[in-house]
Formats: sequence, C-alpha cells, structure tokens
Amino acid sequence: MKCPSCNIDNPDDSLFCGYCGYKYKQSSRQSTHRAQPNVTPSPTLSKQTIRLSKNINIDVRLFIVIMVILVISLCCIFGSFSGPSESDISSMASIQCEFYVRDSLKSPSTAKFPSLLLSDVEKLENNMYYVGSYVDAQNSFGAIIRNKYYCKIKYIGGDRYMQSNWNLIDLNLSQ
Ligand SMILES: [Zn+2]
Repeated sequence: MKCPSCNIDNPDDSLFCGYCGYKYKQSSRQSTHRAQPNVTPSPTLSKQTIRLSKNINIDVRLFIVIMVILVISLCCIFGSFSGPSESDISSMASIQCEFYVRDSLKSPSTAKFPSLLLSDVEKLENNMYYVGSYVDAQNSFGAIIRNKYYCKIKYIGGDRYMQSNWNLIDLNLSQ
C-alpha cells in the first residue's frame, strides 16, 4: 500500500511508513477487522461441530428408542413363554380359596362369589397368599347369608390350576 504522505510503497501489513514514519492507523485497523473473520474460520468450524454433535445426539436418541422397543418386545416374547405372571397366580390363589370356602359351607351349591376383582389378594413370603373376600350362601335355615372370609393359601408350584398344588393354611369364615 502506498503512503498517503510520501507516496512510497510499503508492505501491506506495516503499521508505519518505512520512509516518513506515517502511521497507517485507520487503514491498518480496518484491514485487521476485515481480515479477522476470513483468517480465523473458528465460527464456521464451531457451527460445524455443533451440527455434528446435534446429529450424534439424534443418532444416540434413535439408538436408545430402538433399544427400548427391542427390550420391551423381547420381554413380551419371553414373558409369554416363561409361564404365568404374578397376577395370574394371585387370581388363581383366590379361585383356589373359593374351593375351600365352598367345602366349608352348609349348602355349597348355593354359594355365590363376587368377581375376582373384588377380592383382596396379598402375596406373602414363601409363595403364600392371603385372600380376603365374601360369599353369599344359604345357611342351615335356608336364608341367604353373606359370609366374609380370610384365606391363607400356599402355592407349591407346578400347574396352578391343580388344586393339589395349593395347600390351605388357614381359613376364617364369619357372618
Ligand atoms: Zn511515507
């Protein structure tokens, strides 16, 4: 660039004129300001890395979603093979209790049990179940009486539909 004072050509990056000492203050500032964005590509680089990391985040999320779906579907497939669920066994506990309750009634044929959903089943330790419910049945005088009962029953294992796989531990009938 030419010195405006003495017209001598100086290198473009010089701050002073090499001949007369003229300060290239304004022009040098402008040139550095203009040059900076072009010389340092950091903003575009960081944008690229942000875009990259966003892509990675999306990939990771997609991977997690796929894995969760896989695990859930695998659990469903193996769950159907691995036998009855806990709720199947606990509802069977109240059905088995109903057999024992029926046996202890005066007229078992008149027994009417509520829906299994209404009976309280609590799982205890050692595969024991505590069932609380009620039954409507005729007493020895022919009147229909509601009997509350509490039944404690133990599941030995094996076929849950077999009455022999269930041991009655305690039965309490009260009107
Ligand atoms: Zn000069």
